[in-house]
Amino acid sequence: MKLNELLYEGMEFNACTLETKDDGTKMYSPHGMRETEVDCYGCEGMAGKIEGYKCHWCKNTGKTKDWECDSPEMQVSNANGMAIIRDIIGQEPDYAGSIPPEKYPALRQKLIKMINVDKERESMYKQTTDQQGQMRVKQQGDVTTIGRGARMIDVGRSDEQILSYAQRLLEIIEYAMKNDLVVTWA
Ligand SMILES: [Zn+2]
Repeated sequence: MKLNELLYEGMEFNACTLETKDDGTKMYSPHGMRETEVDCYGCEGMAGKIEGYKCHWCKNTGKTKDWECDSPEMQVSNANGMAIIRDIIGQEPDYAGSIPPEKYPALRQKLIKMINVDKERESMYKQTTDQQGQMRVKQQGDVTTIGRGARMIDVGRSDEQILSYAQRLLEIIEYAMKNDLVVTWA
């Protein structure tokens, strides 16, 4: 995960190890995560070309630290993440959580079925909806303002998208089973 992805509103599924910090707090962290040095994305082509350019991230050294890991991960929007938790994993949707390891064998079978049987994915289809919000009438003194409500577009979920979620999640579950890890989302 890059620093700029911290601003991304979404959910990430990972295979994690449970680590105990020096102060006793326990936390999940993606398996095999390590710090690496990468080219700074804050001064791409700009440091040295723009006078007075002082890179906020690397102080013009051109290198910054980033995190890298070997374990498979999946990034989805919050709405799709909630649907994956409810409809595939079968747990109460929440912004952060984990799947108990004893559920992996059954979940693995369910995912294999979802990948190979078309109708197993149907419950997750979602039509694109385009809703025009209601008219709002506001009276201020003798001035009446009529505003149109916000337009809400939900792009839905295609079969192709659901299939790719199932494939990716299967990869994460199998990786966790093989390496004795816990699958989490946050
Ligand atoms: Zn930089």
